[in-house]
Parts: sequence; structure tokens; C-alpha cells
Amino acid sequence: SIRIRNARKSYGTTTVLEHLDLDIEAGEFVTLLGPSGSGKSTLLNAIAGLENLTGGTIEVDGRDLTHVPAHRRGFGMVFQSYALFPHLTVAENVGYPLRIRHLNTRNRRARVEKYLQLVALDHVADRLPSQLSGGQQQRVSLARAMVFEPRVLLMDEPLGALDRNLRQALQFEIRKLQLEAGSTVIYVTHDHDEALSMSDKVALLNGGRIVQVAAPPELYRNPRNAYVAAAFGETS
Ligand code: ATP
Ligand code: MG
Repeated sequence: SIRIRNARKSYGTTTVLEHLDLDIEAGEFVTLLGPSGSGKSTLLNAIAGLENLTGGTIEVDGRDLTHVPAHRRGFGMVFQSYALFPHLTVAENVGYPLRIRHLNTRNRRARVEKYLQLVALDHVADRLPSQLSGGQQQRVSLARAMVFEPRVLLMDEPLGALDRNLRQALQFEIRKLQLEAGSTVIYVTHDHDEALSMSDKVALLNGGRIVQVAAPPELYRNPRNAYVAAAFGETS
């Protein structure tokens, strides 16, 4: 389980996250949903260890990870900016997390193939990222995060650049694999339908605060305030 307590982040006098608490149980699919600039990426990057909080703590399975560097946290991460290695091919990018974990070549090939098929990119395995479209690069980034089957997967708008059909297909696949593997997922999106269809729990952010955390039906049935009610288009 992941426990975030009193998380704060500011840049100079600009406050981006304010006194934020969040509990995520092992095996849960939790979505951070909110408008542009609400702090979703900042929170996700802080959980990943890529940004330091100004205050507060992040605990995973009872261990304080607040000051543990990103590469020691063992999380899979899909970046909003893709962050692929430009000099490595698609297959090498996806295989990278397995190579640094010393998986042997045969197992590595099989695993890379499985995840390239998942994102429908097996036909461009030997290309460089610069020879791909934005949506294809995003799918490489998704495959690279999932390939080592991490216990915790952090995904920042992993389907944002994709068309509707591909988006829906991958929503289904991500959720299916997550349930099979029992992994914990923290997923960022600003798409309400995506959040509602995939998540066990949605954390609604606005202006650096969590407005409400609830299972999707609860957000409809018991919106905590007018903001949530408006966001979900129903009032009770
Ligand atoms: P989007 O949906 O557009 O990706 P987001 O919810 O992920 O938005 P963040 O990227 O977390 O939003 O940014 C939250 C706020 O923090 C924004 O108002 C942004 O301008 C501010 N911010 C982010 N990085 C910095 C920085 N290095 N210096 C100052 N302000 C920053
Ligand atoms: Mg963002």
C-alpha cells in the first residue's frame, strides 16, 4: 500500500500541491483526475521520486520512501513526455528495463515481443524513436513501463496522443493486465470517461488539492461539493 501524508510542493512562492493525503491499497487502480495545471504530474513525479516534495512523506508498504531516489523505488513509469532513448531502437527501448535487471536474452526477447504486440508495434521494432509518430512513441513508452511487470505502475496520460479506437483497446488491455498481475496502478488523465471506466478509485484534483477520493459510482451518488457534482454532470 502507498500512503501519502501532508504532501506539499511549491516553487518559490507558487504553491502547486497543498497538504495532500492519499491512501492507495496494493492491487488498486487509482486515477488522478483534474484539469490542466491541477498538479497531477507533480504528484505522480513526487511518488516516482523524480521531484522532491517541499514537505510531507510517501510510504510504501510501511517503508518511508520520501528520500529514496527514483531508480531505487522499482516503479514502472510512463512519462507525459515519453522520454525514450533516442539512440536505441523500439525493441531496445522496451527491453532496456529487462537488460538492467539481467534477464537472459531469450526471456527478454519473448517479453519484449509480448509487450510490443500489446501496443501493436511489433512491425516497427527495429526503428528509432525519431522514425515514429507521436502516438507510436507514446505506445513504446507504455510497453517499456509494463514490460518488467512492476508491482507499482505510474502512468501520466499514457494514452493522451492516441485516437479513440486505439485508446479504448489499450484502456481494456491495461486494466486486464493490471488485474491479472495484481499490480498497483496510479494513472493520470484529464478524461472523465477514461477515469470512470478503468479505476477502482478516482482522486479528483483541483488547484493542488484533492477534492474527493471515491469509487466511480460514489462520485455520482455522493459528490462532496458543487465542484465534484459539476465535474460529473449530475446533482443529487
Ligand atoms: P496537465 O494536465 O496540463 O499535464 P498537471 O495537472 O499535470 O497539468 P502539473 O504539471 O503538475 O499539472 O503542474 C501543476 C502546476 O505547477 C501548474 O500550475 C504549473 O504551472 C506549475 N509548475 C510545474 N512545474 C513548475 C516549475 N518548475 N516552476 C513553477 N511552477 C511549476
Ligand atoms: Mg501533467
